[in-house]
This record gives sequence, structure tokens and C-alpha cells, in this order.
Amino acid sequence: MTPPASGSSASAIVAGLSGVVDEHLRWLTQWHKAALFTRDSGLTGPDAAPEPKGFAAWVARVKRGSVAHQPAFDRLVQLHDQLHRMGRLTLMRAAEGDAPDYATYKAVLEKFDEFIQQCRRIERALSVAGSGIDPLTGLRNRTGLADEVSRELARFARTGQPFCVALCDLDKFKSVNDTYGHEAGDRVLVAAAGCLTRGIRAIDEAFRMGGEEILILLKETHLAEALLVLERLRADLADTPVQLADGQVLHVTASFGAAEVTGEISVDALVDRADQALYAAKHGGRNRVEAWREPATP
Ligand code: GH3
Ligand code: MG
Ligand code: MG
Repeated sequence: MTPPASGSSASAIVAGLSGVVDEHLRWLTQWHKAALFTRDSGLTGPDAAPEPKGFAAWVARVKRGSVAHQPAFDRLVQLHDQLHRMGRLTLMRAAEGDAPDYATYKAVLEKFDEFIQQCRRIERALSVAGSGIDPLTGLRNRTGLADEVSRELARFARTGQPFCVALCDLDKFKSVNDTYGHEAGDRVLVAAAGCLTRGIRAIDEAFRMGGEEILILLKETHLAEALLVLERLRADLADTPVQLADGQVLHVTASFGAAEVTGEISVDALVDRADQALYAAKHGGRNRVEAWREPATP
């Protein structure tokens, strides 16, 4: 996930999340007693282990910031809902004398584990918010992007040596998440980022722009050369199978849009040209590389 803009809001969110984890650990103890030892404990029904209140308050706070729009956060909310729905159902049945069987018990514990793992993942991501590194892919996040491209613009003005900016966007990535789950989507992102970083030179840079979009900065490179590099990256990615946790193997592709620097252009305008080229690559059928071209004058 991409870190929020402000470090202080990140630390407040992390502190709140740590409270959420503590509350849920206490909830699990109550749930155990109420689900498995109804008779001994005298505790019955969902009220014996009520849903902790801290999560809703934490969600309300997060919704005021930028983290709320990120898939990792949506996933956490979803896991929380599933956990408590399962937990409540078990307690209702236990209250009617129907103690959970092993499969049901295990399913609740696994959901609990998934929920806590997701909390930890978000905590880690927010804790490194100031570092400029995207915690999932290990790529740089967009924090340092403007500075880095500005440096290249200055070098271009000084030396006349061109460089290129390319945007890479995974194709139909939403359907990977929808079909195989978010964890699988994360694996694909990590694999794609690895493929791209291995395929560029040490002086080049790759930034995760957010979601499944990666910006590649090819320094001291003409457009013709950049297109060859990007074509190789595209083919590598398409030929690299991604192995999921359950052993299934996925093949993914990406589209690329490239733009070469021209005189007097701003960082934003250059990235926008790469974006227009990416749009053309998507429009042209995906799994391809397109270069930005000057719109034809009528
Ligand atoms: P297109 O070929 O046109 O690019 O289609 P697409 O499905 O890739 O594009 P779309 O923008 O509709 O979907 C992007 C998806 O990326 C939706 C979002 O849930 C997912 N996504 C963004 N960030 C993450 C992440 O960190 N992890 C996972 N698993 N999914 C993410
Ligand atoms: Mg996409
Ligand atoms: Mg996208």
C-alpha cells in the first residue's frame, strides 16, 4: 500500500491499530470461553463476546485521511466483518447447545489470524511511510519521484543527453484480485516489480505510483533505445509465471507507455505524455509498448 502524505497522521493510525489488535486478542479469549465452555462459564450468546468498539472508531479516523482509499484498508475492513460474522454465528449456535465442530473452530481462528496479519501489514507499511520505499514491492514510492525527474531535466538542459519516462500498468489486474483473491494480487505485484527491477540498469529508477502502476525512469536513454528495453521488460513479464500460495500458476501481462524528454517540459507534463502513451497501449489491445507522439496538427 502507498503511505499517507503526513507522518504524524500515520503514527496516530498505527497507535490506533495497535489498540485494535489488543482489543481483538481480549475478544478472542472471551469468544473461546463463550463458544467452547458455555456451561462452565455461564456465558451465552453473542453478547458474551461482543465486537470490540475500537475498530469502528479507528475506521472513522482513518476515513478522514488518505489511507481509506487503499486496497489494504478495504481488505482489513472486509476481514473484520467476516471474523465477527463467523464469531457471532458460532456463539448463537453454542447458546442453543450446538458447540462448534473442529472445522468451524479452525475457520474462526484462521480468519482471526488473517485479520491480525493484515493489521500488522498495515502497521509495517505506515511505519516506513517516511522512508520513501513501498513496503509491498520494495520499489520507491512516488515521494522522491519529482526530485529525481527534476534532476534529469536539469541534466538534459545542461548536457542535451535525453532520458525517458515510462508508465507500466498491469493488464486486467482487477480480475486477478476478483478471481484469486487479494493475496494473489499482492504476489503478482511483487513478482512484476521484481521482473522490472531486474530488467533495468542500476542507474535507472522504478517507482510504484500507487495500485498496479509503476513509473520507470530510463536515464541517458533515447526513445528508440527505451522502446527496446521496455519491449524486453514486457516480454519478460509475460513469460514469467507467478506462483500462488496454493501452487497455482498465473501468467500476467502489462502495458507500457513511454515519452522522451523534450525542451522546456515539466515533470508533470512528461509523466502525462507517458500516461497518454499508456492509454494508447491499453486501447490498442494491452500487453504492448507505445510511445507518445505529437498529436497531428489539422
Ligand atoms: P487495465 O488492463 O485497464 O489496467 O485493467 P485493470 O483491471 O488492471 O485496472 P483497474 O484500474 O480497474 O484495476 C486496478 C486494480 O488494482 C484494482 C485494485 O483493487 C487493485 N490494486 C491496487 N493496489 C493493489 C494492491 O496493493 N494489492 C492488490 N492485490 N491489488 C491492488
Ligand atoms: Mg491495470
Ligand atoms: Mg491502473
